[in-house]
Amino acid sequence: MRRYSFALILLAYAGAAAALTQAEVMAGAERLYRERMQELQARHQLDADPAFHQRVQRIARPLIAQAVHDYPESAGWQWEVHTAPEDDESAYAMAGGKLMVSRAYVHKLLLTDAELAMLLAHEICHAVLRHNLQEYEEAMRLEPAWRERPFAELQDAVDSDSALMRKLAPLGMRQEAEADREGLKLAWRVGWPAPLLARYFQKLVRSSHAPNFEQFAHPAPAQRWRAAQDLAAALDAAGR
Ligand SMILES: [Zn+2]
Repeated sequence: MRRYSFALILLAYAGAAAALTQAEVMAGAERLYRERMQELQARHQLDADPAFHQRVQRIARPLIAQAVHDYPESAGWQWEVHTAPEDDESAYAMAGGKLMVSRAYVHKLLLTDAELAMLLAHEICHAVLRHNLQEYEEAMRLEPAWRERPFAELQDAVDSDSALMRKLAPLGMRQEAEADREGLKLAWRVGWPAPLLARYFQKLVRSSHAPNFEQFAHPAPAQRWRAAQDLAAALDAAGR
């Protein structure tokens, strides 16, 4: 009888988010990414602007090669970079190296190639630094009930449950600052001049209505610009 109850407990845990692994997070990201790509394709919007798509690919390729070199775990990933005319987000990276870049955002900010490299490197670093996995683990620490619920629900909640999102905002801030810093260093190692990369953050300041205020789960643009300038100066002083 006791063995029977034990089996029931095990069954209850099957598919639950407890002890999540990077492999599970990547499988979940793959499903979500595939859905979004299919929606774009149905609207004839997936990679629909060949010139923009090629520009993004050309800049992304060496950055991904550098990331694979610096974070060997990511060598086995099926990296993908797609573009859309516009998207709710400027750009994003899901676990396992699944990227999306919005043309409307890049054009609105008039991003130069170096600034686009900074944007891409930031997203690539979210992926290689396993920020998705960290976020889900933090959610389960803050709200332990998630350990017993299906991972797909947690995956949805971190983007839609505003109470949970507020609790996760401090981690999100740290992750954004880390992606800024490690992204700038990654793109600099590829060969981009650090001051030109840093100017991406100046564009954020100029396009922001409130550059001195934190945005949801993002440090204030002015703070990101100052941090990028300091890091660029340090990298230049250190030399290659
Ligand atoms: Zn980010």
